Amino acid sequence: MAVIRTAIPNKGRLADDAADLLRAIGLRVPSANDRKLLVDSGKGRYQILFASPWDIPRYVETGAADVGITGLDILEEMGDRVKRLLPLNFGFCRLSLAAPEASPARSGADVPAGAAIATQFPNLVRRYFRQRGKEVEIVEVRGAAEVTPNIGAADFLADLVETGSTLRMNHLKILDVIVESQAVLVACPESLASKAAEIREFVSAVESVVEAETRRYLMANVPVAKLVEIRSFLPGISGPTVMSLAGREDMVAMHVVVKEDELNGVIALLKDAGATGILVVPIERMVV
Ligand code: AMP
Repeated sequence: MAVIRTAIPNKGRLADDAADLLRAIGLRVPSANDRKLLVDSGKGRYQILFASPWDIPRYVETGAADVGITGLDILEEMGDRVKRLLPLNFGFCRLSLAAPEASPARSGADVPAGAAIATQFPNLVRRYFRQRGKEVEIVEVRGAAEVTPNIGAADFLADLVETGSTLRMNHLKILDVIVESQAVLVACPESLASKAAEIREFVSAVESVVEAETRRYLMANVPVAKLVEIRSFLPGISGPTVMSLAGREDMVAMHVVVKEDELNGVIALLKDAGATGILVVPIERMVV
């Protein structure tokens, strides 16, 4: 069995969730503060490389790592030659174009040619404006671009936004979204060929955890007379499992997998239909 080396962010917003995801598939992941950057992570079959999320595309592209986790924003900026396998459902943010609140600009179209734009994403910003027939001046910064208009270092900025509170605090407003980002699992094309079975096993484990995280296992006792009605609003993967309840003719036990964002609605409908003993539990893995 070939060893699979997985590169994950050593710090920053993606680091904890990436480490938790690997732990959920059974890998031993030390805390990134242990400072050991290449660790053996289980049964001699997995290694974890802690790296800057900005370096991960290159490591995965060259085969220094077989698979990796980084942000889609970074992949798009770095011109990736890696294979994108799976969105991971965390690290959501938007690369947003922003202006000082007082600016008359209301959208990307109002940014004049030649404007100075501070960003950590020069390629994406240049591409955005070229697609709109404009050349802009890029002021490349390593982060905290939000301060640049206030200190006269740039006219506009493009930075990652999650809630918008940093922008508001710095009296800025969003003009447009350049890229919608989240964490992505990527693989080295050569490794995909040479370690196909091992990578398939790894990816399928990751996929099952990501799938499971968005769903809950719901159990309830429901009136037999309401079963048809209840089934009509229950999604389930293959419909609910219905089991008899000892000593009860009028009620049955029902188990079903429900999407997290539909859970509250389903519980309300079940209660209306006379369900009792409703239990919701997390799912560790789900293979569909
Ligand atoms: P950093 O925390 O600066 O190391 O960011 C690494 C990556 O985390 C970014 O490139 C994004 O893909 C992702 N990220 C997710 N949410 C945010 C956020 N609110 N601000 C910055 N980066 C974020």
